[in-house]
Amino acid sequence: METCSIVVPCYNEEEALPLFYEAVEKVISSMQELEFEYIFVDDGSHDGTLSILRSLSEKDAKVHYVSFSRNFGKEAGILAGLTESRGDYVVIMDADLQDPPELLPDMYRAVKEEGYDCAATRRVNRKGEPPIRSFFARMFYRIMNRIAKLNMMDGARDYRFMKRVMVDAILSMKEYHRFSKGIFGWVGFETKWLNFENRERVAGKTKWSFFSLFKYSIEGMVAFSTAPLEWASFVGLLFCVLALIAVIFLFIRALLFGDPVMGWPSLACMITFFAGLQLFVSGIIGMYLAKAYNEIKDRPVYIVRERK
Ligand code: UDP
Ligand code: MG
Repeated sequence: METCSIVVPCYNEEEALPLFYEAVEKVISSMQELEFEYIFVDDGSHDGTLSILRSLSEKDAKVHYVSFSRNFGKEAGILAGLTESRGDYVVIMDADLQDPPELLPDMYRAVKEEGYDCAATRRVNRKGEPPIRSFFARMFYRIMNRIAKLNMMDGARDYRFMKRVMVDAILSMKEYHRFSKGIFGWVGFETKWLNFENRERVAGKTKWSFFSLFKYSIEGMVAFSTAPLEWASFVGLLFCVLALIAVIFLFIRALLFGDPVMGWPSLACMITFFAGLQLFVSGIIGMYLAKAYNEIKDRPVYIVRERK
């Protein structure tokens, strides 16, 4: 019988986990043709998540878990889950039931019968989300698709059902700064997209603040595109040309009208503007340098404290 691993990153999910387990059990009990295992990843939770996982794994032999020594972030959780998974298929799911388990049979069918390597999901709306957050999310996808030459779907979730070949391809990407949405696109493979209506988490709170999402989006851009570096040199070149035009203009004006000493406020403005611009551009270069530095240190993406 073919096997399927369900990978679930969990960070402080004590309220959602029992509901999650129950809901998924209900769906997979109707999928007799697959043998399931769970790989829960406790991402350094501070609540009862780990003890719930311990008791689940005692009760149910198909429940496995790894527990991190601290919070390493969802990306690390996904990597750990994929690394531990043994199934012929792997599905990644959030613990908060925002990824509807009812889609699992459809996803399996797409991979098994329709010849896809992967069934991925996207939310068609962002109901229940602050509008400003949706706006920036849309902007992010638009920019990413333009600069990274990846096909990233707006509203795409990490909830996806993959064949082993695709999982192995993802695991072969050893980078330290992991941006899964980019990695999924980068490895390619035939993907079927399933749409669903956004739903709110069953319990607990979201772990993402606006600021952490912003940082995450910068992470994605730096990881999958060097376009900001190209913009930096383009802006530099543009200002050189503008400066040249200004020099010619001022020179001719001085010849025609003389040169009374004037214009220090505009000079002061220009100096501040260009100082700012230069710092901004060095900041962009610095971001890439910092990422390269972290990659070279080659530290583990996560550290496991306990497993079963
Ligand atoms: N998560 C995690 N580590 C973190 C943050 C989140 O493993 O540092 C897990 C979390 O438990 C959940 C999933 O990632 O299963 C998605 O998180 P959340 O629901 O908070 O994000 P949202 O759905 O609001 O984007
Ligand atoms: Mg969620």
